Amino acid sequence: MHTMKPSDHQQNFCTDEPLVTDFSAKKHAALQFAGEAEIKTVQTRLFLRHLNHTVTHSAFYRELYLEKGIDISGITDLDDIRQLPLTRKQDLSNTDPLLCVDPREIVDVCLTSATTGATPTVIPLTTSDLSRLAYNEEIALAMTGIDETDTLLVCAALDRCFMAGIAYFLGGVKLKARMVRSGAGSASQHWEMIKFTRATAIVGVPSLIHKIGLYARENQEDPAHSTIKKLIAIGEPTKDENLALLPIARELEQMWDAKIYSTYASSEIATTFCECEARSGGHLRPELNVVEILDHGGLPVPDGEKGEVVVTPLGVTGMPLIRFKTGDISYLISEKCSCGRTTKRLAPIVGRKKQMLKYKGTTVFPNAILAVLEGDPRFYNGYIEVMEHDDRTDRIILYAALSQPDDQGDWMRDRLRATVRVVPEIRRITKEAADGKVYQFNKKRKRLTFFDLRQE
Ligand SMILES: [Zn+2]
Repeated sequence: MHTMKPSDHQQNFCTDEPLVTDFSAKKHAALQFAGEAEIKTVQTRLFLRHLNHTVTHSAFYRELYLEKGIDISGITDLDDIRQLPLTRKQDLSNTDPLLCVDPREIVDVCLTSATTGATPTVIPLTTSDLSRLAYNEEIALAMTGIDETDTLLVCAALDRCFMAGIAYFLGGVKLKARMVRSGAGSASQHWEMIKFTRATAIVGVPSLIHKIGLYARENQEDPAHSTIKKLIAIGEPTKDENLALLPIARELEQMWDAKIYSTYASSEIATTFCECEARSGGHLRPELNVVEILDHGGLPVPDGEKGEVVVTPLGVTGMPLIRFKTGDISYLISEKCSCGRTTKRLAPIVGRKKQMLKYKGTTVFPNAILAVLEGDPRFYNGYIEVMEHDDRTDRIILYAALSQPDDQGDWMRDRLRATVRVVPEIRRITKEAADGKVYQFNKKRKRLTFFDLRQE
């Protein structure tokens, strides 16, 4: 039988020893400002330990590497990560072979939010994993300038096995901020809670923060005069690929007279990449992740070029993953940030890999088109349909209902050309037709929708 042996320099990490990482801000915060060489040294050590722990304890990775003829004793450097296969979302459908600890060590069960029709992924967490989440958010929140003088309203579900709410709560507690678990309440509840607790920052989905503000205005109160000074946007994009604020984000800043900070996170990678006060992309966290940007062939692209975000979340003990394909497309920014941190930054997500469209010699994402329009008061509602031309390029049709009947929609073409550099075919439809089609697929919220009619 083939057995995996730790390589020489990994012998410090006994395979039977539980992998406990001291997730301490004091110990790791300095790494954000360290030089490239030091970051790489620390990251390499953490990566090799993570690899060793994972392959020793995970039946899934042991079998996969055996099948591919990979012996991890040959992996000695961070760049060797490219020799390891990628992990797909469908590989996580059965948690058992991925579990790396005794089931008695699992203290919390998280579920990913299931997209339509798909079953959620189960992500079991150990005490150490919860501590890792807390540490991640502690530093993420601190990056935005939040500290122990702040009162933080968490408008995300803290129950139903979601990871985000609990992660922000634990991180805020670790930062010693005053936490308000407003949870999955209604706009009116959140607004009353803001007034009651004199909250200074909100963690929430932009569309919900917008609803709270609208509620306040409907009740003759002005959110701009509230105590809120910072908006930590989760789950939805707030910026386009050039880091410019989307209309919804601009409106939120005006509505609340507050600064909006964008974040990127997912339950599988158990990490948030958050913007600092310079607000120019989410700082990477080398002590918690190895982030790669890969092209279609799985090869790394240079910084600044777009590709799929692939993440190896370091230090996870319960269900550690290696090279997880997020399916999200973005790029890395390596220019030094004005905040003084030396870590690279992840640009806003420009779209999902499977939604990438080939159009007139360029690539574009339906989300990028929709994001230009969503939040613009002149745009009422609409959707995008994509189908294939005979030459295998994509045909994009934007069905748009505008707020004013006499609006010819020329501004849409101008804005799309300026922002995403692509103008799809545009067909004007009635408000009823738009609502009918959009609500049919998205009953809960009025969100713009994309219908992919291409053949697989
Ligand atoms: Zn920065």
